[in-house]
Amino acid sequence: MTFLNCSSPHPRAWRWNSTKACERALQYQVGEKIHGFTVSQVTPVPELFLTAVKLSHDGTGARYLHLAREDTNNLFSVQFRTTPMDSTGVPHVLEHTVLCGSQKYPCRDPFFKMLNRSLSTFMNAFTASDYTLYPFSTQNPKDFRNLLSVYLDAAFFPCLRELDFWQEGWRLEHENPSDPQTALVFKGVVFNEMKGAFTDNERIFSQHLLNRLLPDHTYAVISGGDPLCIPDLTWEQLKQFHATHYHPSNARFFTYGNFPLEQHLEQIHEEALSKFQKIEPRTTVPPQKPWDKPREFQITCAPDSMAASSSKQTTVSVSFLLPEITDTFEAFTLNFLSSLLIGGPNSPFYKALIESGLGTDFSPDVGYNGYTREAYFSVGLQGIAEKDIQMVRDIIDRTIDDVIMKGFEDDRIEALLHKIEIQMKHQSVSFGLALTSYIASCWNHDGDPVELLKLGSQVAQFRQRLKDNPKFLQEKVKQYFKNNQHKLTLSMKPDDKYSEKQAQMETEKLQQKVSPLPNPGELLTEDIVAGKPYFDQQGRATCSACAPVSASLWPGSAHTPALGKGGCELATEEMNYKRSFGYYLPKCSYISPLSSLLGLELQTQQSKAQDASCLPALKVSDIEPRIPFTELAVALAAGDVPVQYCAQPTNGVVYFRAFCSLNTLPEELRPYVPLFCSVLTKLGCGVLDYREQAQQIELKTGGMTVSPHVLPDDSHLDTYEQGVFFSSFCLERNLPDMMHLWSEIFNSPCFEEEEHFKVLVKMTAQELSNGVPDSGHLYASIRASRTLTPAGDLQETFNGMDQVRLMKRIAEMTDISPILRKLPRIKKHLLNCNNMRCAVNATPQQLSQTERAVGDFLRSVGRSKKERKPVRPHVVEKAVPNGCGGSAHVSGCQIVRKLITEPTFTPCQMKTHFLLPFPVNYVGECVRTAPYTHPDHASLKILARLMTAKFLHTEIREKGGAYGGGAKLSHNGIFTFYSYRDPRSTETLQSFAKAVDWAKSGKFSQQDIDEAKLSVFSAVDAPVAPSDKGLDHFLYGLSDDLKQAHREQLFAVHREGLIDVSNKYLGVGRSTHGLALLGPENTKIAKDPSWIIR
Ligand SMILES: [Zn+2]
Repeated sequence: MTFLNCSSPHPRAWRWNSTKACERALQYQVGEKIHGFTVSQVTPVPELFLTAVKLSHDGTGARYLHLAREDTNNLFSVQFRTTPMDSTGVPHVLEHTVLCGSQKYPCRDPFFKMLNRSLSTFMNAFTASDYTLYPFSTQNPKDFRNLLSVYLDAAFFPCLRELDFWQEGWRLEHENPSDPQTALVFKGVVFNEMKGAFTDNERIFSQHLLNRLLPDHTYAVISGGDPLCIPDLTWEQLKQFHATHYHPSNARFFTYGNFPLEQHLEQIHEEALSKFQKIEPRTTVPPQKPWDKPREFQITCAPDSMAASSSKQTTVSVSFLLPEITDTFEAFTLNFLSSLLIGGPNSPFYKALIESGLGTDFSPDVGYNGYTREAYFSVGLQGIAEKDIQMVRDIIDRTIDDVIMKGFEDDRIEALLHKIEIQMKHQSVSFGLALTSYIASCWNHDGDPVELLKLGSQVAQFRQRLKDNPKFLQEKVKQYFKNNQHKLTLSMKPDDKYSEKQAQMETEKLQQKVSPLPNPGELLTEDIVAGKPYFDQQGRATCSACAPVSASLWPGSAHTPALGKGGCELATEEMNYKRSFGYYLPKCSYISPLSSLLGLELQTQQSKAQDASCLPALKVSDIEPRIPFTELAVALAAGDVPVQYCAQPTNGVVYFRAFCSLNTLPEELRPYVPLFCSVLTKLGCGVLDYREQAQQIELKTGGMTVSPHVLPDDSHLDTYEQGVFFSSFCLERNLPDMMHLWSEIFNSPCFEEEEHFKVLVKMTAQELSNGVPDSGHLYASIRASRTLTPAGDLQETFNGMDQVRLMKRIAEMTDISPILRKLPRIKKHLLNCNNMRCAVNATPQQLSQTERAVGDFLRSVGRSKKERKPVRPHVVEKAVPNGCGGSAHVSGCQIVRKLITEPTFTPCQMKTHFLLPFPVNYVGECVRTAPYTHPDHASLKILARLMTAKFLHTEIREKGGAYGGGAKLSHNGIFTFYSYRDPRSTETLQSFAKAVDWAKSGKFSQQDIDEAKLSVFSAVDAPVAPSDKGLDHFLYGLSDDLKQAHREQLFAVHREGLIDVSNKYLGVGRSTHGLALLGPENTKIAKDPSWIIR
């Protein structure tokens, strides 16, 4: 359920006056004129601690919503309704291209450059199916004005240069642009991004679901772009789309936080809106005409080599059209109803579908989808046998009939209402961003965003309806599911030839673009008569079916030769004009020189020294020199278990965490720890079976999760801590119940329900497998660092491809009981007080109650009777600095961590290629460097950012066509180069090597270094939610003093130090490297015996 992922006063607002910003906003009067805007509504929304001010711009009709809240993490966003009518991806390419330079900021890529000139806490852009959103957030007022200026200019006055279009959208280019002998291929950032996106079978399914269920208008097309249609997009079409959609009359502005509204309005009016006249934007999405009978479709996808079973890879879902999302209360009700139907093991569809054992997990987009003008509900299964499609459909129908008859238990309704309550109180650091995404769809279709925020009144109204009519929900099910003819059954099955067919279609598209070529020397007029090329007035070939060529790229000629076959209609006059002009095509092979020229031109552009001085920037001196210290207290409970207390303004929510060491666990059980963690709170405990347990967790807590952790030491690369992290939160009144649940889980977890265990295993395996295309670069990096430190191997075991494959094997087992029997063995080593520490974040008033509850819990858990020896021989005890010796901000006793060390560890090089059926690659190269407290660590951290911004971004994204790439230094001292959705593989490794040469040669300026520092500090100083304050201290043993020392090292990083660390660690033969690649078959790697192929 996604009502709202909530809320955030800034950390610095520790003793904040929760009403200041809200009260100031309440002073506005309806009808008041401010800087070209008129106030139309002022509404307090106490449940979210904010005041909403609605305005409209007099000159253009632009809409504006300001949410005043005492939060320093201020956010701006501008949203345009973008409703494409084809799948060329025009809104998506536009989203990319407007960020490539604007009138006031004509330098290339101001957006990426601002990442290094600002302390922004968030910057991005999104293309949804019917809107495009540009949000940023920052805590610094000067930074806010700078970013606002860049965003406004980018959105309203972009350059939209032709070369930017080819770079970001698509182009024909030789594989190697400087070698015309290499094959012609499609390139372009969006082209590759979308190719990558559609390697994800869930994405394919979701896309078809949307397109088929709402087929009458813009939802029938792919707003991000279909790789086979993107090459039909022209530069002219792009500019036209901008003119009609990125207009103030089609825009919605949103600001959030505690900065004064007047300043925002003044700047937006002055810099953008005052330069426009009102237009009538014709972007409304018409209502979808309801069907008079249900429809069915079958589609295919690539077989999933990661999936557990090759014979069970079919997906089927049944979806229903729901009312418009602008009907706020109906949307609330249906969202709620949907959660009752599919959420958790007590829901009717979980019981009927998941527990039928027919499939592995729910189908994609299951539940309520409220992102389109009309919402829809979808339910089904993935990972089923093709023959079971009808059975799944029958179960869905039967379940609906059942619900109409029986309704829902009161407890489940209460549990869900409780969830909404706790979500409103739990504070995230990106509340502004959560709010703008939450209201975007409804507002986009002219719904009232303020109504949507009044969750409290929706809950009250809901309770009233239910009281008036106990069958309220059942009637809705009957109306929208049983008696709804607008019902789509969509199934998807794997086709062994799918990838081959896709590649074939791409080849055909390529051929369509490049041939048949006119003969050299032939009069162009003949081609025109034959209807081949088409020119615009500047003599550019612009037919959508023609290859991109611009006059400016053709040396020594104002004429543009035509390329390719045009299927378009020519206006007679234009034809006559061209005829009389009589272009000649040059005597050469057309395609090759042209496309390599385009490629070379792009390369030249990309390699040019970039003057970014037009952009506003913060200075290093704008960064806070000191971190705000967090007050902590540590006390022993139940004998010797350290508990860390952190008093925070948590809105009455209590956060309880624990960490247990894994040091005594036998090696052979380690691979099963992630599985143990993922099922521990889901199999039942004490007298509760798994259903009752799930019910209690929902009713009494905001969530109880368990996860394995490998924590690096801050001063030695060969030392680490291994353990399991328990995390939970609840409303104050439920604390005793939550701690009782933990006590039952620790003392008597149930490991008997084999059938349910099987269901959980399958779901976990499916989730892991589905996540690989999204996180391929992370899997590559984890693998590449596996042999560089002693902790690397454990990381791979817990979080790497090894874990994905292990889960796949387990999910395929016919008899799963041997695995289930391992769980109680893990429990014995883990779930006791022997090597445990706890942490609590709560309001000062709650701390004593919490202290008692935690003490009771620990006493109930007790200690393991048998004294167990650590499995690894070398264990060092390390005290976390506290009030006695170090920081004065921690009072009480010390936390002592037991770290494992391997003094004789020798890192070695390893290269691994995971063969996966993706059309793109994910590359990772890792280098062992220096630990956190070493001064080189700070230099390497700045260096990684510098290399990314000034070299790798250009090499890998702009020139190489990958969706992303760069370098980073992790807390564990591993320096990583990576690429994401990359059409290249070994060439990218060469780019990494070139980046090192670049760094060693010191070809960067002081300005570049300062920018890298700003960028690193914006991450170091990212806001931390009250719930997470002090966690660095608790988990990693990082005191505020250590962090302050690190901060000073970062400030001190200088040019020589950067060159020095490039030589010392990154140069060939200096430090041990590890390489890994996820991607398709690769002939070069196959021939190279130094690679291990898996
Ligand atoms: Zn994109």
